[in-house]
Amino acid sequence: MRRLRPAAAVLVGLLGCAGLHPYRPNFYSVDGDIRLGREFAKEVDAELPLLRHAALQQLVAGIGQRLLESSPEPAYRLFPYTFKVVDTPEVNAFALPGGPIYVNMGIIELCDTEDQLAAVLAHEMSHVAARHATEMLTTQNLTQLALVAAVSVIPVPLPPVAWEGAKVGYVLGLLRYSRGMEAEADLLGLRLMNAAGYDPAEMATVFRKLGEQQHSLPSLVERFTSSHPLDADRVRAVEAELAKLPARPGPVVAVHPSTFAETQLMFAKD
Ligand SMILES: [Zn+2]
Repeated sequence: MRRLRPAAAVLVGLLGCAGLHPYRPNFYSVDGDIRLGREFAKEVDAELPLLRHAALQQLVAGIGQRLLESSPEPAYRLFPYTFKVVDTPEVNAFALPGGPIYVNMGIIELCDTEDQLAAVLAHEMSHVAARHATEMLTTQNLTQLALVAAVSVIPVPLPPVAWEGAKVGYVLGLLRYSRGMEAEADLLGLRLMNAAGYDPAEMATVFRKLGEQQHSLPSLVERFTSSHPLDADRVRAVEAELAKLPARPGPVVAVHPSTFAETQLMFAKD
C-alpha cells in the first residue's frame, strides 16, 4: 500500500476532478470508467431479461440523446451512454460506470409523461458523468479495489480476481451510492432536464409516485428504495433546487410528439 502512494497521488491530481463537482479523489481514468462499465455490462446483459423492442428502445435512447446534446457540462459528453430496457415489473433503474444505463419496465410504466422518464434518465446519467461508481471504489479499501484491478488505471500489485465470480448481485452491491451522491445526481439531473427543455418539476413527481408505490407495493420498489431513499428531505431538496434553476430556453417539446403515450399503450397491462 505504501509503495502505491506517490503514483496514486499523481493520478488523483491528474484525474480527480470531472468538472461537475468539487475535487474528490478517483483512481480511475475516464477510460477506466468506460472499461469497467463494459465488464460489468457483460454480466448484467447475461443475467437480466432485456427487452428488445425497437419503439421502446428508440423512445428511451431518444430521451437520453436529447439530454446529452443539451447538456452545458462537457463532463457528460466524455461517456458513451447506452440505454437498455429490462423486462421486469420491479421499479428500478441503474447506471454502470462509463455509460451503460438500465431502465426496468416497472419504472417506465410508473411514468405518465416523457418528462418523468427523462427525470429517471437524467439522474442515472448524472451518476455516470459525476463518476460516482469509481469514486466510491477509490475510497473503499484495497481488498475491494483488487477485485477490479483488471480494469484499474493503476497497476494494483495484487493478483487479479477472476471475473467469472462477478455476478449481477455483486455488481449492483458495488453501486450503492452514498446519500450525498444520490442528492448530487438529483441536482445535476435537474439541471440536465432544464437545459434539455424538460420540466424539472417532474423529478419531484417521480419521487412522490415512488413513495406511493413504497406504501402500496413495497416489494416492487424495494431494490430502488434501498439505494434511493425516498424521504421528505429528498423531495424538499429537489423542490428547493427547482427555484434556483435558470429560466428554460423555451416551451417543453416532446422528442417525438405523442410517442411516449403511444409506446406506453403498447405495453399497457390491464
Ligand atoms: Zn441514484
